[in-house]
Amino acid sequence: MRPLYVILDNGHGQDTPGKRSPVWPDGTQLFEYEFNRAIVNRVVVGLQKAGIHCTRLVPEQHDVSITERIIRANRMIAAANRDGYQCILISVHGNAGGGTGFEVLTSVGKTISDDLAELFYQLAETVFLKNFPMRRDRSDGDSDKETDQVSILPKTNCPAVLTENLFMDTRKDCQLMQSSFGRDMIAEMHVEAIKKYKEKYAC
Ligand SMILES: [Zn+2]
Repeated sequence: MRPLYVILDNGHGQDTPGKRSPVWPDGTQLFEYEFNRAIVNRVVVGLQKAGIHCTRLVPEQHDVSITERIIRANRMIAAANRDGYQCILISVHGNAGGGTGFEVLTSVGKTISDDLAELFYQLAETVFLKNFPMRRDRSDGDSDKETDQVSILPKTNCPAVLTENLFMDTRKDCQLMQSSFGRDMIAEMHVEAIKKYKEKYAC
């Protein structure tokens, strides 16, 4: 088994239209690019503490196109593979559209990404997001929603998942997303899922 190298993608930028909560009655508003970066920053700290190599795919604050992100990711993966590492990619997002709860997307078909997604669901359901619904798609025997529409998933050359961490346009969800407590918890869930994946597949 090879050591693990984690590529963390924080979607969107401060210039991305939409991708924000309504302005709530208390005057606050959540911007997804800021939330995604807040989670990824915490995950980086947690992984470094655990001695797991990781990097940010998008250190910039502005939006980097999906095409550029895929090129970057595959370059990072090739370099890490040359150095003897195996990669996983995790794209961190907040959901919207008036629902509630947590979900994980992977590319279509049975891949090792499905195992990583399952670890996320187990931890979310039993520890970190117990008060929220788990949005599952059981039609193919596992929990994750499979799509090739989100092109970073099928087009990166390593196991890749996209986490949708609650709904920014649903008040209860957004309150947790806005709080330091909620952000710590969501980040810790990512770190724990990665650690469990490492126990199983990496050294
Ligand atoms: Zn997003």
